[in-house]
Order: sequence, then structure tokens, then C-alpha cells
Amino acid sequence: MSIGTNWAGYHEYAATTLHRPASIDELREIVAAAPSIRALGSRHSFNDLADSAELVSLEGLEPSILVDDDSETVSFSAGVRYGELAAALQAEGWGLRNMASLPHISVAGAIATSTHGSGDRNGTLARAVSGLELVTADGGLRTISPADDEFDGAVVALGALGIVTRITLDVEPSYQMRQDVFAGLPWERLLENYDAITSRAYSVSIFTDWVDDARTMVWLKSRLDERTPPKDLYGAKPLPDDVRLVEGEESNTTQQGGVLGPWNERLPHFKMGFTPSNGDELQTEYLVPRRHALDAFRAVRALGPRIAPHLHITELRTMAADSLWLSGAYETDATAIHFTWKNQPDAVLPLLPVIEAALEPFDARPHWGKLFHTVRRELYPRLDDFVSLAHEFDPEGKFRNPFLERNVFAG
Ligand SMILES: Cc1cc2nc3c(=O)[nH]c(=O)nc-3n(C[C@H](O)[C@H](O)[C@H](O)COP(=O)(O)OP(=O)(O)OC[C@H]3O[C@@H](n4cnc5c(N)ncnc54)[C@H](O)[C@@H]3O)c2cc1C
Repeated sequence: MSIGTNWAGYHEYAATTLHRPASIDELREIVAAAPSIRALGSRHSFNDLADSAELVSLEGLEPSILVDDDSETVSFSAGVRYGELAAALQAEGWGLRNMASLPHISVAGAIATSTHGSGDRNGTLARAVSGLELVTADGGLRTISPADDEFDGAVVALGALGIVTRITLDVEPSYQMRQDVFAGLPWERLLENYDAITSRAYSVSIFTDWVDDARTMVWLKSRLDERTPPKDLYGAKPLPDDVRLVEGEESNTTQQGGVLGPWNERLPHFKMGFTPSNGDELQTEYLVPRRHALDAFRAVRALGPRIAPHLHITELRTMAADSLWLSGAYETDATAIHFTWKNQPDAVLPLLPVIEAALEPFDARPHWGKLFHTVRRELYPRLDDFVSLAHEFDPEGKFRNPFLERNVFAG
């Protein structure tokens, strides 16, 4: 019997065994004995990326969250979720540079897929990684640091190199932020002022449904030492109250309206204590080099009337370039074009090749953890190096699965 479904309920895992080791030694024995096994994080991916005959969850291991004040890093067990890590750091006066919209996701799953938040000067979440420990195919334990040649290939690794057991992230002193929402941004003014808007705060998200300017919002997440948000943002007006991201739900977003608070209660869009939504949604996202952002927006906007009936909302975010081989921001500052779809797979899946064709001139890399049609392998200049690395770590392919065969190994 299947171990169940992903968070959205869309993918039923083919796996029939879910191991929950209580120690690293037990995990090593499980991995050494299994013919085909992968790590399962918090099940927030939308596709079959995590799947395998056997899966292993690290949620039973002690979190063991340890801050090193001298190196300004935190290390912890790989089953830990961002919300739990962030609360522990904040309690000790430390902060993370960035977070994704949802604090419920596991750190290991997020960095494995190049998950990101927003901010012109912030990289993907994987960029904060400064050390990994993992169990390899033979049950061995291996550590990888930025000094190792394979580091840039091993962070965003899609679970293909082994079961990550411990992660070290860079931290910084805790900081205060405010979140301000502006509604009704005219589309043309967005295009004219895109750089000014995305650089207006530490982390900026733009929401649109591609057809109705009244639904186009800008969320500014500003650090205390930044400029105060304006009274009018290129025609968009500040909203005094918290907004909902998905219609009909109770407000589950982190505090808005310009109220100061700790970083971990402003950077994610959703509160940790609330279920972010009922899972009745699908997601897709493409990362385009920033230099193509406006042309890519125009191309998707031309499809607006086809997209809008099936869409809850689109979010546009930015991130700084990194050197991680499989990252969506590999060697380019990037803009992410995200779609939160209604749970209508029969309508949504046929739209994906249409959107990908429209984005074809703009070198769009799909988010590894969301729904997409095709990965263009030529957009990852180090993909062959990654495949070699995977062969070295896992010669018999016990961490390979149909997703990886289709999208990574099929050369
Ligand atoms: C409501 C919602 C909001 C989201 N918001 C964002 C967002 O703001 N930004 C964004 O970029 N993405 C976002 N995502 C996507 C999400 O961040 C990614 O799908 C991420 O991979 C989820 O992590 P997970 O632990 O749930 O992964 P899973 O789906 O459980 O696994 C994903 C991958 O990580 C691997 N993995 C997990 N743990 C380990 C480990 N210990 N060792 C090795 N490999 C491991 C798995 O094998 C698999 O390949 C969102 C998803 C949802 C459902």
C-alpha cells in the first residue's frame, strides 16, 4: 500500500515503505540494505521528485539545533522545518537571511530543490548552506564543505547524492522587519518601474492574475534600517489590513500593515501556527534570467485570458545569482514567475507546454519541486558534471527515480 500523498494530495507516492530511523546508525543500515531509496522531506513538492520504492523520513531524529557564534552558522538535523529553525534562532538572537513563503517546509527539501524567497540581493535559500553531512549509497557518512570541489554540485542535488542528515547554514544577527501591501498597480507602471519596485525593499513580491490590474499587489518586506515605504507605489495604494492570498480562507498571512516584528514573522507569507491553505491547489514556477524579465512577463500576459480562469494567483519574485549547478539562479540574477493554480489538473497540465513555449526565448528554468512539462537540459551548463557526481556518489543508482531519469539523466 502507498505511504500516502504529497501535501497537495495530487501525487500518490509509489513508495510502500516509509522508514523513520531514530539514529544516524539506523539510517546508515537502512540505506546500505535498500536497493532503491530516497529521502522524503515535508511532502511539499508537487511532482514525483521525491518518490522511490522506499522512502526515509528524518522527522524522528533529534533536531539538535546548534548555533556557533564565532563562525555565525547554525547546524541542525536535516528533518528540521524552517519554522522550527527560525523560532530557535530568533530565541537566541540570530536570524536567517531569507525564507520561502511557507515556514512549514523542511530545510533539506527546500535546499535540494533550490527553493527561494525574494530580494534583489538575496540568493536562493541554498546559498546560505555552508556545510552538509550525508549518508551515501553504501551507508557511509560523508561531509561536504565549501572548500570541496563538489560543493556547488552537492547542495541543490534533488536527493540524488544521498540522504542529507545534517545541514549548516550561515546566520546573521536577528533583525526587525515590517510588511506593507500595496494594491492596484497598473500593469504598464509595473513594466516601466520594475527595477525600482523590486529594489524598494529587502524582499519584494508582486502578485497578479495577469488580467485585472485591481488584483495586482506589491508586498514590501523592509528591514528596520531601510527607507520607509511610500504612500503611493506607482499608483498602487497601501492596504491597512491583512490580505488573504487564496479567496475564501481565513487570514493566515504574517502580519502586514507596516507593523514591526521579528524577521521570522515577516519574511514568510504564511504564519507557522496556521495551515497555509487546505492543499487544494497546484503550483508551477519558472525562473528566468533577470535581463529577460519584462519580455517574459509580456509573453505570459498575452496568455492571461487562458490562464486566469484556472489561477488563484501569480507571484513574481527576484533573487541574486549563485554558483550552484542545478539552481534556477545559476550564474544569473533571476526573476521567478510563479503560478498557484486551482486544483484543476485537467485544465492546468495542458497549459504548461503552452506557457513553456511562450517562455522559450527567455531561458526559463522550471522549479524542480513544482509541476512543469519539460526541463531544457542546455540551460544547466554543469548538468553533465552533476550526472558524473551522482554516478560517483551512487554507482548503482539507488537514489535514482523516474523523475531523475526523465529530467536529469536522460541525455
Ligand atoms: C504551500 C507551498 C508553498 C511553497 N512556497 C515556496 C516558495 O515560497 N518558494 C519556493 O521556491 N518553493 C516553494 N514551495 C515549493 C517547496 O519549497 C519545494 O517543493 C520543496 O522541495 C519542499 O520541501 P519538502 O521538504 O516538502 O520536499 P519533499 O517534497 O518532501 O522533497 C523534495 C526533494 O527534496 C529531497 N530531500 C528531502 N529531504 C532530503 C534529505 N534529508 N536528503 C536529501 N534529499 C532530501 C527529496 O528527496 C526530494 O527530491 C512551496 C510549496 C508549497 C506546497
